[in-house]
Amino acid sequence: MTEVIILGELDGNELHSTAGELIAAGRKLADELGTKVSAAIIGEASTEVANEAIFLGADEVYTVSHDLIVQGVSDTYVAALEFICNQMNPSVVLTAKTPIGRSAGPRLAYRLGTGVAQDCINLEGNADTGKVTVTRPVYGGNAMAKFTFSNDATQVAVLRIKAFEPLPIDKERSGSITQINFEMTENQVKSKLVETVKEESEGVKLEEAEVIIGGGRGLGGPESFGQLEELAKLFDSGAVGASRAVCDAGWLDHSYQIGLTGKTVTPNLYITFGISGASQHMAGCSASKNIVAINKDGEANIFKEASFGVVGDWEKVLPSFTATVQELLSS
Ligand code: FAD
Repeated sequence: MTEVIILGELDGNELHSTAGELIAAGRKLADELGTKVSAAIIGEASTEVANEAIFLGADEVYTVSHDLIVQGVSDTYVAALEFICNQMNPSVVLTAKTPIGRSAGPRLAYRLGTGVAQDCINLEGNADTGKVTVTRPVYGGNAMAKFTFSNDATQVAVLRIKAFEPLPIDKERSGSITQINFEMTENQVKSKLVETVKEESEGVKLEEAEVIIGGGRGLGGPESFGQLEELAKLFDSGAVGASRAVCDAGWLDHSYQIGLTGKTVTPNLYITFGISGASQHMAGCSASKNIVAINKDGEANIFKEASFGVVGDWEKVLPSFTATVQELLSS
């Protein structure tokens, strides 16, 4: 059994938040398969960053830097990962469902002549067979399916963001850091980064929020979302999200949209007001740890997915809900 390699992306000069999640997933898998987990950090990584990956659970760190490696250009990551895989022949490669990871995963799999499992929310390793079984939502999030890789080549899986919790930092952990000598030529880079435009958003990013307050068409108009903001702000890591109906109506920007054609979120708590729970919406949030629904229609689909619910008018429920949360959080 060879190693599990995770793609450690950089965010500026720091380790991307998904690296810790992938290392936790890789650690679990490596322990089950009886092997080690290595983090391949692509880009200019400092020793502090490489050590952080070890403190988060990696046994080994491969650092790969090259002038042609540009953050945001997947060609360069694919080339670097392919180079590492040809040298190390890993049993498993994990990437995150970031813009880079979700593109690099399948492209790498193609180059290695193997398959890829996308949008995974869980992984299990079988020490006897060396096979990995992944769990992923199917049919717009209405069912979970398990898939096991059938060939003996490297198994590539792309993990949904926040499906795994990073392990606590352990500064007593030690591991090795290996600089990989990687050569790359300009003709390996087919795409070019023209411009980076930062999404205007205040506070916590939707994909990273631990608590999301979602609003749907049932709120009646854009002015109601201020009240959801107030509730979201009570939590350390709270953000507002919305259904597509809300974004299509222009009440909120599409960057707030959760669902099949919006963002995929996995908060600890998703509280929805006036959202019907259409399958396309649930496709983006069904892996939330807890869903709480407030809807005036007791038959709304959202109640099938919610752990707790209130059948009622959101305008009556929200003020007392917010007051109670405030009281609980301050006690
Ligand atoms: P509605 O379906 O209109 O539901 C409003 C809800 O509010 C109702 O359940 C109603 O009972 C409740 N309500 C009304 N008044 C009150 C009140 N006073 N108090 C409490 N509750 C009240 N949708 C997404 O969200 N994300 C996607 O990414 C997405 N992608 C799509 C992709 C495709 C290809 C297609 C075809 C559709 C997609 N949709 C998506 C649209 C989706 O099918 C639904 O139309 C949409 O999610 C509905 O949004 P909603 O729940 O806010 O509105």
